[in-house]
Parts: sequence; structure tokens; C-alpha cells
Amino acid sequence: MKSYYDIVGDGGSDIVGQVEAQQERIVRSLSGVRNLVAVGSGKGGVGKSTLTMQLACALRASGHAVSILDADLNGPCQARLGGLKAWIPVPGERGVPLPKAPNGIGVVSMGSMVPEPRAVDFASVASGSSHTWRATREFTILRELLASMDWGALDFLLVDLPPGAERIVQYAELLGSSSLFILVTIPSDLSRGVVARSIDALANTPNRILGYIENMDGYYCADCGNVKPLFPASSKVKLDLACLGSVPFDPELAALCDRGGSLSDSPQSVSWQSVKRIVEKVVRAASAKALCSEEKA
Ligand SMILES: [Zn+2]
Repeated sequence: MKSYYDIVGDGGSDIVGQVEAQQERIVRSLSGVRNLVAVGSGKGGVGKSTLTMQLACALRASGHAVSILDADLNGPCQARLGGLKAWIPVPGERGVPLPKAPNGIGVVSMGSMVPEPRAVDFASVASGSSHTWRATREFTILRELLASMDWGALDFLLVDLPPGAERIVQYAELLGSSSLFILVTIPSDLSRGVVARSIDALANTPNRILGYIENMDGYYCADCGNVKPLFPASSKVKLDLACLGSVPFDPELAALCDRGGSLSDSPQSVSWQSVKRIVEKVVRAASAKALCSEEKA
């Protein structure tokens, strides 16, 4: 068998042509998406996926057309959060129609293509450099999903990013220079430190960060209706970025999310109220960007 290094040129694959053709398909497929917003953190365990679904619910509740792409291929959460069952992609006239969660939000997640508890593994031929290979395969799949889905006309397409502060730059490249970022942290030095790295990494890209959200900012106690601290004292790590707001942890809401319920079912929840206020800021910040690019043009 020939190894990669034995192949002369592109080996007849016209790889450059293939990449260009796919890039054109991605641009065409996303042409109806007004705001592509990636939600990342750098760090895992900050409740980013749940928050992404909450943001989508609040956007939808305020009259915006919104869908979610779950870019975490190995640890997909959005299928469960959206209450989606097994789904088989079947191409339609304008691409593969988006599977809709019962809450009305379009959700593309590996979680509905590969049922739990099966691992989402890739067939790999490169044992020595399997890590590189896997990352390459992940981006290949994401590009294919971006290109082949029928995203339709959307005000917001939220992309739930997997953890990894350094890889956030690769996602910025994948999603294009006009895509926007929201970073999620929890009120700990540990988490804010990693988010600071993500901010630093994105500073070298043309992409704009709308701001950060402080998740799990306190714990909502249903017995007394108070928000109690979850983390000691305030963090010493300053983030050079606008704060879009903070969301307290509400156990009832978390249980609802795990069942794939819609947050608008719980309108009095303090967490839901916080998310709605954050979404107003997100909408304003995203449209401010649209004005800026028109001025430049
Ligand atoms: Zn209490």
C-alpha cells in the first residue's frame, strides 16, 4: 500500500478542486443565515451546551428563526437537549431538511445519528498520527454538514463548540470571518483563565466576540426563592470582553433541559429571565456588527 508521502501531486484526486467546490456549497447553503454565532468556552463542564439550547429557546420566543449545529461530534448533547430521537439524513431538493426538536428548533447533532451509549468513533487508517487524523475527520464532517443541510432562512444559527481553547481558531476559520462568538464561563478563576486564553486566541482572527456569559452564577433555591453563591468570592481573573449577563443554576430547569423540554414552559424561572435578557443583548450586539460592515462597504 502506498503511504501518503509516496503519492505524487494530488494523486489524480483534484483535491483543490474538491475543496473549492465544497466551499462554494457551504457559502450557498448558509446564504440564508443572517447571523452565525458560535458558542464556545475553551473549557468543558461550564454548561455551554445547555446554555446554547436556552439561548436558542429565548431567541425563538422573541420571534427569531433559529437552529443549532452541534459541533461537538464526540460528546453531542443537543439531540438530547432538543428531545430528538434517532434521525436518518435524507437529502431533499435543497439539501437535507433540518430535523426539528419538539420545541420547534432545528437541531443537527451527531447525538441523533448515533444513538447513546454508542461512541462516535471514526474509522482510522493512521495509527501513528490518529489524533491528527481524527481532528481532520471532524472538520471534514462539519464542512459536509454545513454544505449539505438545508439551513433555509435563519436569523441565527448557533454552533455549539466542543472544548479546547486553542482549537477555537480552527472553528473561526471553518465558520468564516463574519461568524460571531459568544464565550461561556463559570465564576471560577480556573474557568475564566481558560476563557481568557480563548479570547487571546481569537484576537488573531477577524472574528468578533459578542461577549461572555457567566453561567452557574449562584444556585437558585426553590424553597426560599434566593440565589445563593456556588463559588467562593469573586474571580480575580479579569476578562477583556463585554459581559452579556449571568445565569444562576436552577436544578428544576436543568432537569427540564435533560428531558428536552422547552424553557418557555417555565416562564417564571430566574434562569429563564436571565437568558431572555442576555438574548436581547445578543440580538443588539449582532445587529451592531451588521451596521459596522455596511459602513465599511
Ligand atoms: Zn433556600
